[in-house]
Amino acid sequence: MFSAARLKITIWYTVIIMLISVAFSVVIYKMLANEVERFVRAQRFSIERRLRDFPFPVSPVLIIDTDLVNESKHRLVLTLMLLNMGILALAWALGYILAGWTLRPIKLMVDEQNRFISDASHELRTPLTALKTAFEVSLRDKSFDLKGAKNLIKQSVIDVDGLQILSDGMLQLAQYQKTNGGIKFEKVSLQKIVADAANTVRPLAELKKIDIKTDIDEVELEVDWQALKDVLVILLDNAIKYSDLNSEVRLSGKKHDGMGEITVEDQGIGIAEKDISHIYDRFYRADEARSKTTATGFGLGLSIAKRIADTHSWTINVVSKQGVGTKFQLKFSI
Ligand code: ADP
Repeated sequence: MFSAARLKITIWYTVIIMLISVAFSVVIYKMLANEVERFVRAQRFSIERRLRDFPFPVSPVLIIDTDLVNESKHRLVLTLMLLNMGILALAWALGYILAGWTLRPIKLMVDEQNRFISDASHELRTPLTALKTAFEVSLRDKSFDLKGAKNLIKQSVIDVDGLQILSDGMLQLAQYQKTNGGIKFEKVSLQKIVADAANTVRPLAELKKIDIKTDIDEVELEVDWQALKDVLVILLDNAIKYSDLNSEVRLSGKKHDGMGEITVEDQGIGIAEKDISHIYDRFYRADEARSKTTATGFGLGLSIAKRIADTHSWTINVVSKQGVGTKFQLKFSI
């Protein structure tokens, strides 16, 4: 698809360049031919004047070599044709390179979209298949009673909740991919944003008896606060998900070197060194997260957070030690 489009654009670029080149050549030819004609006329005029005093009549035509003039014109046409052929080759090569450059971002976008669709359908297929299998097994089970049905429905609701989280995550990711997030700057205090984010995840923390400790400086910000809150909720949600019962999550915020800085630190399972470089990949979940915890997730949170951060030119850094804990640091312009 893209090679056909590249060829088409190359042809268009070449046609446009050649139209301009040929138009210029015609103008140059006309101008030079006129100059030659003018020169010949001036020469003839001056010779005629000088021949007037000659004792016998001589035609100026015999003195001015018109063949030479015509040959010069032919040579000019030939030179211009050769020049245009050179320009044609150059225009084709340049057009081909330029068409490649023009199409590259579109190709990257389409490739990314295709990857997203195939990743998403892969992630959706697994829970849907599990759900379908559970229904089919129950239908075939002759001893399936009301209690069994209630259990099945209960489990199905949990699975559907998971699917809902997955589709919400995919929608959020697609939204930031599509519109670059639509950045809206608003004046807000750092303490308010952090309190908002902490309140969103507090029910989860309470379930695991995790204490969220905050130490936030009073700083006025002018930021896209909804986006900042979304990133914080993702980091806090992970900190809680991957922490043990009765542990602590520390949340601190300050202004440093003219930038806003928020850190989210937990005492959880930590991230293995081999996983650190992948945690922002879409649908990536470390083995530890899958096996050692009951934490549900689809590996979308951090890719959404990273996408939001990139859109706003913020930076996210992570320091983690397995079995000790993880510290995420978010730096943003204020
Ligand atoms: P998930 O839905 O699996 O939490 P994320 O994209 O938010 O997806 O995180 C990707 C992976 O990074 C997680 O599966 C987990 O392995 C790891 N991770 C993220 N945050 C933490 C944390 N605070 N502690 C330990 N591991 C984490």
